[in-house]
Amino acid sequence: MLDNKLASISVDQLKGVGPALRDKLAKLNINNVQDLLFHFPLRYQDRSRLTPIGACFLGQEVLVEGEIRQVDVSFGKRRSLMVRLQDDTGVINLRFFHFSGAQKTMLENNQRLRAFGEIRRGLHGYEMVHPEYDVDQPSKPLGPVKPTLTPIYPSTDGLHQASWRKLCQQALICLARTQVTDLLPDSAPQAQISLTEAVRYLHEAPFNADVQALREGTHPAQQRLALEELTAHQVSMLLRKAQFKHQPGVAIPDNGGLVNELLKRLPFSLTRAQQRVMHDIELDLASGQPMHRLIQGDVGSGKTIVAALSALYAIANGFQVAIMAPTEILAEQHLEAFSEWLEPLGIHIGWLTGSSRVKHRREVLEGLANNSIQLLIGTHALFQESVDFAKLGLVVIDEQHRFGVHQRLALREKGKDIQPHQLIMTATPIPRTLAMSSYADLDISVIDELPAGRIPINTVLIDNARRDQVIARVAGACDAGKQAYWVCTLIEESEALQCQAAEDCANQLQMLLPNTRIGLVHGRMKADEKSIVMDAFKRAEIDLLVATTVIEVGVNVPNASLMIIENPERLGLAQLHQLRGRVGRGSEASHCVLMYQDPLSLNGKQRLKIMRETTNGFIIAEEDLKLRGPGEFMGTRQTGVAQMKVADLGRDAHLFDDARQLAELLIKKAPDKAEALVQRWLAGADRYADA
Ligand code: ADP
Ligand code: MG
Repeated sequence: MLDNKLASISVDQLKGVGPALRDKLAKLNINNVQDLLFHFPLRYQDRSRLTPIGACFLGQEVLVEGEIRQVDVSFGKRRSLMVRLQDDTGVINLRFFHFSGAQKTMLENNQRLRAFGEIRRGLHGYEMVHPEYDVDQPSKPLGPVKPTLTPIYPSTDGLHQASWRKLCQQALICLARTQVTDLLPDSAPQAQISLTEAVRYLHEAPFNADVQALREGTHPAQQRLALEELTAHQVSMLLRKAQFKHQPGVAIPDNGGLVNELLKRLPFSLTRAQQRVMHDIELDLASGQPMHRLIQGDVGSGKTIVAALSALYAIANGFQVAIMAPTEILAEQHLEAFSEWLEPLGIHIGWLTGSSRVKHRREVLEGLANNSIQLLIGTHALFQESVDFAKLGLVVIDEQHRFGVHQRLALREKGKDIQPHQLIMTATPIPRTLAMSSYADLDISVIDELPAGRIPINTVLIDNARRDQVIARVAGACDAGKQAYWVCTLIEESEALQCQAAEDCANQLQMLLPNTRIGLVHGRMKADEKSIVMDAFKRAEIDLLVATTVIEVGVNVPNASLMIIENPERLGLAQLHQLRGRVGRGSEASHCVLMYQDPLSLNGKQRLKIMRETTNGFIIAEEDLKLRGPGEFMGTRQTGVAQMKVADLGRDAHLFDDARQLAELLIKKAPDKAEALVQRWLAGADRYADA
């Protein structure tokens, strides 16, 4: 049995904790003393020394002490209680808008007090509004100033900082009699500070602590805890991965020659990166355990053919395959590619989207149930409950970040008692730290090579004021038989406004360029309206396609070699990279014009500069993560990045490798400690989105 004393002392046993407070704490997943000790301060206030009243500055938070000179109720604009406090160096007013008679009497009947608050300018010199204060009473003298920084705890409604401090003080008394159980294996890197010391330090940081380091989270105490927290997260992810692997899966041992058949027919050969990824997938499929693999490959790296080859494995073994894309445009594009590749091999493909007609839908459902459809392509319509497969063996999800977690889970269920293999494909390069934190429950393969012969896209930044020149350039390109995209972006949340803006833009361009054939796609158009326009663009019957960011993912029109993006500063780099990836797909040199609105913020400038300097999605993703933080990077919910208490994905990247190794070791050698570690850091909260 693991000895974890602090976790066995319930908060009930602390002074001042009744049922109401206990329930409040339980909502924050704080049930025992260990939980309290791992509820760390957000920041600190320095009340460790007295400031002479005459030396206070406006805006400073200070602790002052002096004689109570006067206690008055003043009737200005608002009634308030004014206390004049004086020391050898000066006078200051303490002002209370909410006060009781008892409070007034008590202030009148005493001589000295000590107050902490922010210095503001009042009508009669400096003042503090509603300072925290203690009165010097015979029964409760002020005593010496505490030589520690005052912690400010993350809190919730109706729980005051004073309560937190009292609770944590009691928890620290418990800690004085014992130790925080060290759960990391002995091979953990030698820390400058023990776990128990680290915990104590954060609750009772001394007055001379390196406040800067504490604020940045780089203090050895925080780093010690960050390593442990990251390890706990790794343990939790790895356990989940193992759990998934232990579900019954299907073995798909052989491709029955179909794979070679397709490879022979392709006009190209696989890149080395594609071959490597195929090898990973082959091993997964043959293993008999459910595959759960994420394929990362930059736009244009050739993920689709990898999906098609994987599908052939399943089909050759008599299993069905579902392929899901986030939009109808993309699903249709897949339908085209897969039909071209697989139908010559005698494979039956079904097609299902939200806009499928009833009759068509019924036929597809029948085909799936009697196993005559071997491959189903579609959008999230595939998740609907009425869709039942006879023998689903593989699910491919394209452009994973567009799909919600629940949709993925729903599709897993389609496998009934066996888990179909899952292949998830994303064109969003995931920085290593994010991959190691939020995707640690998946196996990851990377296609880190583009097919030969691609010409890098040339990106330029142009001020919006030179719009005329940009329009002339578009006209020139279209006259020369090339095609172009014009992407409108708008900050407004409202899709309606975005679409309106795109429409206005298209009209305006049409007026200026009467000889150019201009098309428009936006998110409010019906699926079939969109595909009519997209088809026309693919067939080069449209020269210039004006679009909102709906064209972001996957659309493939190799003859389009120019892209204008309006107000690129409004988009994330990853998104810009996706957009830009629509060009540079043919044999012509391609150009991307980022037409920004002056003035750009410094951060905006830096970000657009990165876009100009590189087309490497991984570099762009790393930079985007640095400049925007993990939450913004992909939308916190989608990353599944849990709220961490101490660790920070960006700052603590250097701890990841150790955390991973420690987690693996713990799971293997000390499963009880692994469990206790997860309990300590992640108790109660299933804070990961199950991505
Ligand atoms: P993405 O990874 O963005 O989904 P696609 O699968 O759409 O990329 O591939 C982009 C284009 O490159 C397609 O036209 C595809 O047929 C082609 N392609 C894929 N693999 C190769 C390869 N090894 N050599 C040459 N072209 C390839
Ligand atoms: Mg794709």
